[in-house]
Amino acid sequence: MEENIVNIDSLPVVVSRGIVVFPGAEMGIDIGRQKSLNACQLSEEAFDKTIIIVCQKHPEQFDPTIDEIYKVGTLCSFNKTKTNPDGTIKIDIKGLKLVQLDETIIQNGMVFAKFHELEVISGDESEEQALIASLTKSLNEVVSNKDIISNSLAKTLLSGNTSTELSNIFGSLLPFDFVTKQEILETLDLNTRLYRILEELEKMKYVAGIEKQIDKKVQQSIEKNQKEYILREKIKAIKEELGDTFDNEIDKIRNKLEKGNYPKNVKDKVLQELKRYESMVSQSPEAGVIRNYVDWMMSLPWNTLTTDNEDLNVVEETLNKDHYGLEKIKERILEYLAVKKLTSSLKAPILCFVGPPGTGKTSLALSIARAIGRKSVKVALGGISDEAEIRGHRRTYIGAMPGRIIQGMKKAQTSNPVFILDEIDKLGRDYKGDPANALLEVLDPEQNKIFQDNYIEENFDLSNVLFIATANYIENIPAPLLDRLEIIQLSSYTEMEKLNIAKNHLVKKQLKQNGLKPSKVSITDEALLYLIRNYTRESGVRNLEREIGTLARKTAVYMLKNNIEGRQTVGIKKLKELLGKEKFDYTKKEKKDQIGVVTGLAYTQYGGDILPVEVTYFAGSGNIKLTGNLGDVMKESASIAYSYVKANAKKYNIDEEKFAKIDLHIHFPEGAVPKDGPSAGVTMTTAIVSALCEAPCRSDIAMTGEITLRGNVLPIGGLKEKSISAHRSGIKTIYIPKDNEKDIEDIPQSVRDELKIILVEHVSEIIKDVLTFK
Ligand code: ADP
Repeated sequence: MEENIVNIDSLPVVVSRGIVVFPGAEMGIDIGRQKSLNACQLSEEAFDKTIIIVCQKHPEQFDPTIDEIYKVGTLCSFNKTKTNPDGTIKIDIKGLKLVQLDETIIQNGMVFAKFHELEVISGDESEEQALIASLTKSLNEVVSNKDIISNSLAKTLLSGNTSTELSNIFGSLLPFDFVTKQEILETLDLNTRLYRILEELEKMKYVAGIEKQIDKKVQQSIEKNQKEYILREKIKAIKEELGDTFDNEIDKIRNKLEKGNYPKNVKDKVLQELKRYESMVSQSPEAGVIRNYVDWMMSLPWNTLTTDNEDLNVVEETLNKDHYGLEKIKERILEYLAVKKLTSSLKAPILCFVGPPGTGKTSLALSIARAIGRKSVKVALGGISDEAEIRGHRRTYIGAMPGRIIQGMKKAQTSNPVFILDEIDKLGRDYKGDPANALLEVLDPEQNKIFQDNYIEENFDLSNVLFIATANYIENIPAPLLDRLEIIQLSSYTEMEKLNIAKNHLVKKQLKQNGLKPSKVSITDEALLYLIRNYTRESGVRNLEREIGTLARKTAVYMLKNNIEGRQTVGIKKLKELLGKEKFDYTKKEKKDQIGVVTGLAYTQYGGDILPVEVTYFAGSGNIKLTGNLGDVMKESASIAYSYVKANAKKYNIDEEKFAKIDLHIHFPEGAVPKDGPSAGVTMTTAIVSALCEAPCRSDIAMTGEITLRGNVLPIGGLKEKSISAHRSGIKTIYIPKDNEKDIEDIPQSVRDELKIILVEHVSEIIKDVLTFK
């Protein structure tokens, strides 16, 4: 067949789509297009089944123009193997020679071309050898990756006898794209051709490598997911075996969340956390943290409001029932509630009860809650110095918890309780922030609608809460907080008030608490008064209540032991028998008038007490000595007093030279009790004069007042407490600063009736009155 075509220089052309035929290649192809069918037919008839096969540049075109056909193709012989009913045929071809199409024409419905044969030209032989070696090596590597080239194909590939044959086989059989194949076909320099093939082979190898890696990764990820799934199923099975309620629990929480009255943001948050929780082992620490958080979120009263009792008469009744006296205070509470109700204003200030311990601050607040029908909670703020105590710790902290406010809300179980902020004056502050600031936010109606606790993270509405604060000293309340508070001052109770509180409230309460019927036990007024005077020492009635409790218990034991069925009356004698020795002995007034001993009045955290001063002197060199646990203010006060006496020596007939020759000693007995404050100025001055002039001082008087260097008397605080204590100690007359006149109305009438109060402007008025000069 080959010999027949040598002299032919033009032949019919079959244009192929995407198939590049190399010399030496044998393959079957389908012929469908009419032009190609015509070409095959003509070739069979006139050219001894010889055709040129050449590739079109764009395989998608059905009828390419001459320009859209490559100019290098292959001279082939063919055999028709099949004719299909639709006229298309199948032919087996064999590539014979590489040809260049010199002139291509479309004629009689077919492509026809003039051509000449092309030859692949060898170059440097050693380079050629090296290239062949590389190709073989590369091929072997590709072969080892069985997905790309099979072993049998590799064998065929390497079956070429010459390098040119080899290059044709490679170009024909390797899975390169047709553009690359055409490029290789057109490359006539043998070594360049081999290079090109090698390059493509390497590229293939590289891509295959990457594909393999990707495959591996995909495989691994599938395996991992599968592994996780299987493990989780196993855990589930194990848990079921062990009766672990974990999954059950989650279902329960979900259920509760669905049915409960929770805001949407809370629901979403909890669901989100539950999802994380589910993927954990229930005993893991992290699961514990989430569980804790979910518990907190579920147990807070997000939307639970109670209805207020708005009848002020009922409120008043309840307040009166719970507390003796305190008329003014009850009145102010009612006013406050009325205004709050009328204006329904969020801006109403926060009530703050200020007064000594045990005067009923907390119990008043609880009583308000009871009266208006709200739940109540109390949070002690004393000693809190870390802002996080108020606002909570972030969940990332180990052992994190919500702050006191949220803790209180959980305890309250309603979103509008009466919230008692106890001891607001004992808030501390340190490097961890200022808790007062956080509290300010809690109390500010503008901000507390969206209060944010660091632990809870979601906003909590505090705007319906009725906050009531308590404090002992108004001076210690942080200023910005004070601004938001409406202060209601409670003061010490007199003995009579205490007696009434005990009679009407405490005794009943304590008997009941200790399982005794009030009808079975009665305590006489005298016994109660004895109890108040000798077993307690306080402004309020907290210890009194405790002592009554002890008395009730001891009485119960006594009655059981002695089989007393009837009514038991406790008088002073029985009281002493049951409670043992008296605990306190009020500082009694001096029995006789004495030189250098004068009675002052003090105001301590337990209320008022009398405070005697002793002054003596001895030979020395003009020094002054102070003892009795005194603070700085008291020491200054002492030296002012001494200076005043020195400056006015003549007036009191004191030898001025004496001062340089003596040491003066001022002592306040009961050295264990710290004392400070300026109000003992007049007392010290009087005692110094008394000592130096050897003029005895009346024992039935007491005095209080700060002095200036010129002896003027300045006002003092705590007049009510001081007068009550003077009265209690049997003092008949007290000297007080003129400027305190306005405070006299605070002194209970029963005290005022029995105590003479003398107002003074200058210390000399007192000295003249109380000392007996020789
Ligand atoms: P505070 O909070 O001021 O320290 P509490 O409110 O705890 O004091 O009061 C201590 C006890 O004294 C409580 O049992 C309280 O009921 C009782 N109490 C205080 N004042 C009165 C009063 N005026 N009438 C009846 N009980 C009182």
